[in-house]
Amino acid sequence: MKEATYDVIISGAGPVGLFLACELALAKCRVLILEKTDNPYSPLKQLPFGIRGLSAPTIEALYRRGLLSELEIHKRLKNPHTTAVQQGPRRQVGHFAGIPFHEGDIDISQWKHRLPSSTETNLITEMEEIETVLTRRAEVLGVEIKRGLALTSLHQTEDGVTVQSDEQSFHSLWLVGCDGARSIVRKAGGFEFAGTEPEFTGYSTKVDIVDPEKLKPGRNLTKEGMYLQSQPGFIVIQDFDGGAFHNSEKPITLEHVQEVLRRISDAEVTISALHFATTWTDRARQATSYRNGRILLAGDAAHIHSPLGGQGLNLGLGDAMNLGWKLAATIHGKAPNGLLDSYHTERYPIGAQVLDWSRAQVMIMKPNPESRALNSIIRDLMDTQDTATYMAGRVWGIFTHYDLGGTNPLVGYSVPNFEFEDGRKIGEFMIDGQGILLDFDTNPSLKTLANEYGNRIKYVSGRAKEQLGLRSALIRPDGIIAWASEGEPDLQSARQEASLWFTQLIS
Ligand SMILES: Cc1cc2nc3c(=O)[nH]c(=O)nc-3n(C[C@H](O)[C@H](O)[C@H](O)COP(=O)(O)OP(=O)(O)OC[C@H]3O[C@@H](n4cnc5c(N)ncnc54)[C@H](O)[C@@H]3O)c2cc1C
Repeated sequence: MKEATYDVIISGAGPVGLFLACELALAKCRVLILEKTDNPYSPLKQLPFGIRGLSAPTIEALYRRGLLSELEIHKRLKNPHTTAVQQGPRRQVGHFAGIPFHEGDIDISQWKHRLPSSTETNLITEMEEIETVLTRRAEVLGVEIKRGLALTSLHQTEDGVTVQSDEQSFHSLWLVGCDGARSIVRKAGGFEFAGTEPEFTGYSTKVDIVDPEKLKPGRNLTKEGMYLQSQPGFIVIQDFDGGAFHNSEKPITLEHVQEVLRRISDAEVTISALHFATTWTDRARQATSYRNGRILLAGDAAHIHSPLGGQGLNLGLGDAMNLGWKLAATIHGKAPNGLLDSYHTERYPIGAQVLDWSRAQVMIMKPNPESRALNSIIRDLMDTQDTATYMAGRVWGIFTHYDLGGTNPLVGYSVPNFEFEDGRKIGEFMIDGQGILLDFDTNPSLKTLANEYGNRIKYVSGRAKEQLGLRSALIRPDGIIAWASEGEPDLQSARQEASLWFTQLIS
């Protein structure tokens, strides 16, 4: 067997590859990232095109690993889709298919597991900022990042994976493809990528327009598609051409953008300069398995869909948070049976929901009478409290959970950010990525149970300001509640649940 230089090679230093690398390095794995591009900077990663809405699970993940405070931009720009003119209860805080929902319509008391001490539910950052913060953290943790090296081929055996990049080859125990929508790892790794074909070509452009007053401000559904002018000169267009232009890979010329914009807006505007343009589609596909032997996929490599509603980054970072500790435990020989496969079992349905969410939006944006009829019904419903609360809950990931069984309704959900009487919050105990046995009653038997797992489970006790009826809970390293008790804890069930996720010191 060839000696592996690395525990894990990650293909792609996008946000998902970087965050996964941080999780693995935190758990003392040797990680190499191969990144195709030399230069991590691009106008596409900066405002306004690089703007990314972060949802509750992402914000919690960054907070729990001490990274949230490093994101500067969120301190200035709270809530996606908010503009200076919209303040007060009618402030737009998100949208579904371009139909806004407003802060004042959302009833947060319906979100039972969110506490006053919880993190924000939605913030924005830009791609460049999040990648910079994650790169810095990865390097501090000892991750090796080689830029300007694209993974071109791979070969896996029972013991490991060898990858090729230019003339160089690298060997590791595991390979994770975080190399985006056109992932080579996915293609060369034998993964099936199933789904639906696009309805439209989307354009993100920066242009100079001679007669901008001919365009309406904001988002406009027209009889041909949609155009959005977020700031003067920054124009997003949806042309329902079945994705033909994007697929043609033709150059995006000024003349072409002008023709599309005129047709979609039905306004004879004249573009005098095209500074920047890129296209995208609503193709929605998902790997039917996130694991093939020693090769795994995460982020856009595992699932693609339209950027409507801004979910892809959140979905990918959720993959990384779920996978990191499981793969690390497997590498260290400390994973109970089936732990690594639970990555696919848990994350695939979440990905499928996001794909469907984006498909549903496309369906009611289509320029046909049936779609427009449905669109106007959703628009009416959006002004009701229940719809706005539901939409916000979906868009911000409030309802995200895994089906882990269990009798307590909190099992499978992200742990509420309980605040102890001394002011500390449970999220602050998660910085090192260990599991936690949370005990509001300081029960000696639970402390003994945690001790049986050494540093894999940290015992945290004390009264919290609000306990949501709980007396104890077992929290996985990704912040998910695996077991919870409202009464005197049933030690046998706590012990059984702990053994599903962690291995004891001597077992
Ligand atoms: C217009 C637009 C708006 C969006 N808005 C939002 C939003 O508000 N919220 C949200 O959650 N998501 C949003 N998204 C989606 C989000 O940007 C992506 O889902 C996210 O960037 C995926 O991260 P990733 O790390 O998986 O892939 P990527 O960001 O694509 O990174 C992949 C990396 O792999 C590298 N790579 C590729 N091939 C190779 C190779 N062979 N070898 C080595 N390296 C390779 C690439 O250079 C790149 O650095 C938006 C997307 C678009 C297009």
